[in-house]
Amino acid sequence: MTPQQLWQAALGELELALSKANFTTWFKSTFISEMEEARITISVPNAFTKAWLEKKYHSAILKALQNILNAPIRDVQYRVETRSAGEPMRTQAAITVSQAVAVTDVPAMPEMPQAMETEPAGERGFRRHYTFESFVVGKGNELAHAAAQAVADAPGRKYNPLYLHGGVGLGKTHLLQAIGNKMLEKNPGARVLYVSSEQFTNDYIAAVRAGLAKEFKDRYRTVDLLIVDDIQFLANKESTQEEFFHTFNALHQENRQVVLSSDRPPKSIPTIQERLVSRLEMGMVIDVSPPDLETRIAILRSKCQEKGVHLSDDILTTIAAGVTSNVRELEGALNKIHAYHQFKNIPPTVETVKNIISSYSVNPAKKTITARQLIATVAAYYDLKIDDLLGKSREKKLAFPRQVLMFLMREEMKASFPAIGSEIGGRDHTTAIHACTKIGLMVEKDEKLRQDLSLLKERVYHAA
Ligand code: ADP
Ligand code: MG
Repeated sequence: MTPQQLWQAALGELELALSKANFTTWFKSTFISEMEEARITISVPNAFTKAWLEKKYHSAILKALQNILNAPIRDVQYRVETRSAGEPMRTQAAITVSQAVAVTDVPAMPEMPQAMETEPAGERGFRRHYTFESFVVGKGNELAHAAAQAVADAPGRKYNPLYLHGGVGLGKTHLLQAIGNKMLEKNPGARVLYVSSEQFTNDYIAAVRAGLAKEFKDRYRTVDLLIVDDIQFLANKESTQEEFFHTFNALHQENRQVVLSSDRPPKSIPTIQERLVSRLEMGMVIDVSPPDLETRIAILRSKCQEKGVHLSDDILTTIAAGVTSNVRELEGALNKIHAYHQFKNIPPTVETVKNIISSYSVNPAKKTITARQLIATVAAYYDLKIDDLLGKSREKKLAFPRQVLMFLMREEMKASFPAIGSEIGGRDHTTAIHACTKIGLMVEKDEKLRQDLSLLKERVYHAA
């Protein structure tokens, strides 16, 4: 396995464990620059990233690397380096890599195509490979796919805005990007813009601070197609919501197309203004649901083709049956399987593949659950009204389940503390931190609580 392949596979694992924003922030432009016996050096673009990786993500990185190599790693170091991964390695590094290969007694392997995630987004935010052609249509996404195509064919005319919602890894971003790519393909001069809601927020705040509000308006209100991904993050950001509202109106009035995605329907976004909800609902709201078995197999087949990998139908079925929650995990599993067999230099069989994906199927945490499902489950479990559970009262019979809920959101959804706070009745992130720490400590000692938690998990995953 080349260092590049190893790092690709490790990134695949890390991406699953981290929030998208964290993942891109800290792992963009990182690569393995040296691999010597059980020592690995990871190059990072700046000292800030180095400090973060060392402090926050070191153990996760170590775990991911060991997981893929199936061997202990003695040392991982981080080095600030400005050359990019595409440039040739220094000779010395190249030598140490081949030594590492010799030591572990693994023959050189063919290059694995670059994982798609690493393709840099173009100036307007588009990744070329997110197209309608590379999107596999199945039961859970056919409506979303059809609407997205209609919008790309006749922007501003049919469904405006188009609003797609659903859990993570189900292809929302892919479809959003496909719309932009298709429009650009048909009309290279079209003004199209793709941003995450975080980017929108950051742009807006930076513009206001710098006295460039007018430039911000010029940028956002003059496009033919505006795509804002994951708009649930506009919750709690009042002035940005306000600006978004006006941006939306300006574009909509002129029949410019707006496309949005979120992890939930408009109404369920906490603290969103009612008038914005009604705007979001005025076009087409479509949910994307997880792919069924047949679609998962079709997706695997298509990804194998993209990567030039051949796997038998039996093996594809085994993977699709074992990895059920979302497409991103399906891709992750495929990368892992590919890397593993290349590394071991053995052909994949149903048995070896089963071994690798067992971690996906036995661990129900891999199934995607939403905050709403967790809230409903916790409320039902403790026999509380949802409003009370999320409400202001600090009565113990409410406060404790609330803390359990926050703890589960953290553990099972990997939600950020601010996100937990805002989901749980608009509380401060410090409240969420406190709750998670407290329950985390209690779990160590309290058998009853451990049982409660495992029952709660069982219920929520069973219902999901
Ligand atoms: P979301 O934005 O809903 O979290 P993404 O669009 O990022 O999900 O999808 C996760 C990964 O799965 C991407 O690499 C995407 O290309 C792939 N993917 C999702 N759905 C499909 C599909 N129906 N066909 C092909 N690839 C898909
Ligand atoms: Mg997305």
